[in-house]
Order: sequence, then C-alpha cells, then structure tokens
Amino acid sequence: SRFELVEFCHDLVAQMQMTNVQNIIYFISQTNYIKVCMDKNILDSILKNLLDNAIKYSPLGSMVEFKLLCNNKKVIFQVKDSGIGISMSDQQRLFEPFYRGNNVDNIPGTGLGLSIVKTLVDLHGGQVAVESKIGVGTTFTVMLPYSI
Ligand code: ATP
Ligand code: MG
Repeated sequence: SRFELVEFCHDLVAQMQMTNVQNIIYFISQTNYIKVCMDKNILDSILKNLLDNAIKYSPLGSMVEFKLLCNNKKVIFQVKDSGIGISMSDQQRLFEPFYRGNNVDNIPGTGLGLSIVKTLVDLHGGQVAVESKIGVGTTFTVMLPYSI
C-alpha cells in the first residue's frame, strides 16, 4: 500500500510505548514527509522486532533511539540502544534461526526475531547491518528500497 512514512513511524512508536513503559523510544525523523509504496505488515514486523530487542536487552529506564533517514532510492531505519551489546562472534550468527547470544543470561527469547527480520528485509530487497560493543550498546540499520 501507499502511505506516509513519518506518521507510520510515530504511530508505531506510540503503539509500542503503550505496552512498554520501562524504556523511552525516542523517534527522530531526518525527513519531513514522504509517501512510499511498501508492505506495511512487513515493515511493521521488521521494526517491532528491532525495537523489541532494543528494549529487552537494555537496562530499565534507558533510552532507545529510533531514527528515520531517506534518499531518493531507499529509506534507512536505525535502532540504537545502550544495552548489553553483542560480541563479535555472536554478531556473525544472530540472524540464524534460534541463535541466541552468549550474554543473554536469563532474558527470555526464542532466537527467531532477527531471522524473521532478515527474511523480510531480503524479501523487500533491502539490507540489514549491526554495529555493537559489549556493555556499550547496539545499533541495527535497515535499508529498504521504495517506490513512490
Ligand atoms: P525472540 O526475538 O524470538 O523473542 P531473541 O530476542 O533471543 O528471541 P532475536 O531477536 O533473533 O532473538 O535475537 C537473537 C540474539 O541476538 C538475541 O538472543 C541476543 O543475543 C542478540 N540481540 C539481538 N538484539 C540485541 C540487542 N539490541 N542488544 C543485545 N543483543 C541483542
Ligand atoms: Mg528478539
């Protein structure tokens, strides 16, 4: 479907903040108004998984930064947290189904979220990347091509 992306992101954040009051999701849009043709359900699922992880693997009360950027070919979403971080060896495997990092301790999860994200990003012809440091935090970047 065709929809306005900044509003879509605002709505998504508002929706997530209703169930997650322990962390603040800070949404920053580097673009003003952009109508795109994308699959809403796919986008919803990608972003919810990333925001859900950012909250889950961060200390209570810490801030999660959610940024939207775009150029004339693709939109870029960045989800940045100040959480537990991901080791280099885990970073290489975390998109595999059921894979979980060695530092998750008793934080619950199935290890499926990111494998779903990767599948959906691929379906949409995009890319996903991770940057992380143990004990410092993690940034996931998703790039998705769009048509207008
Ligand atoms: P699920 O999403 O299925 O409930 P999960 O969160 O464990 O479970 P994924 O979302 O696929 O599974 O993430 C895989 C692993 O990557 C996690 O178990 C965790 O080790 C690591 N990980 C993902 N996101 C983050 C993050 N923001 N900070 C730290 N570690 C992360
Ligand atoms: Mg997850």
